[in-house]
Amino acid sequence: MSKIKIAELFYSIQGEGRYMGVPSVFLRTFGCNFKCAGFGMARGENSEEANNINPDLYKDYNSLPLVSTGCDSYASWDPRFKHLSPVLDTDSIAHSIVDTLPHKEWRDEHLVITGGEPLLGWQKQYPDLLNHPKMAGLKEITFETNGTQKLSEEFKEYLQGWYYTDPLAREITFSVSAKLPCSGEAWSDAICPEVVTEYEGYGTAYLKFVISTEEDLKDAERAVEEFRARGFTGPVYIMPVGGVERVYTLNNRAVAEMAMRKGWRYSDRLQVPLFKNEWGT
Ligand code: SF4
Repeated sequence: MSKIKIAELFYSIQGEGRYMGVPSVFLRTFGCNFKCAGFGMARGENSEEANNINPDLYKDYNSLPLVSTGCDSYASWDPRFKHLSPVLDTDSIAHSIVDTLPHKEWRDEHLVITGGEPLLGWQKQYPDLLNHPKMAGLKEITFETNGTQKLSEEFKEYLQGWYYTDPLAREITFSVSAKLPCSGEAWSDAICPEVVTEYEGYGTAYLKFVISTEEDLKDAERAVEEFRARGFTGPVYIMPVGGVERVYTLNNRAVAEMAMRKGWRYSDRLQVPLFKNEWGT
């Protein structure tokens, strides 16, 4: 049976993107190819906030501190925190997922497979998980990805088979949070139009950029041009930076106004005002 290293598994309200407001189970896989230490920092500077947290002081995710700069889900990829993320088989993951649902069966809830970067190491394991009898009533799934990972031939075949067997049975979404220079990641590593355009053949895909300044908006415009030139047709969302409320409320209105100006979609981060973006929300 397949196994996946799981950082978090919890039930909440989706706070971002297309399914904002929908009750959702979040399966956060461990591992990421990026660090995104630039978020919330001056250009060219890297956050040390997560590096200064002593992993030995924490026994579970819910007690971990929040950070206001850098990646807000740092413990889902930083090897120093790997002891908090068990390796579980897909049978027990499927049972645990359904156990989080209020009626212990799928109704209107949707599944979010997030990270870390969920398409980095676990594509081979998803068919086992998603074919599990406990997942039979699940209708909508989102992969929250940074858009750098190509789909494997086996996973594409699986998704395609699914679609051609019953196109109405399940809807797949790729929520692509492509990383702009404000993340601290290099453009050539982070903006991968050929990868993201291919996702559109296997589900609905959209771009979601984290923005705090007009300079970020210009970067998003340049990125969108590159994605469009490659044939990407999906919608564009922009979302305010801010894993903590103090930062989020500084720029959410400005980002909403940028979205209106551009004719792009605004994505909130409902988990910040609703739940203070605590781990497990
Ligand atoms: S891609 Fe996402 S999970 Fe990975 S480091 Fe960046 S913000 Fe964090």
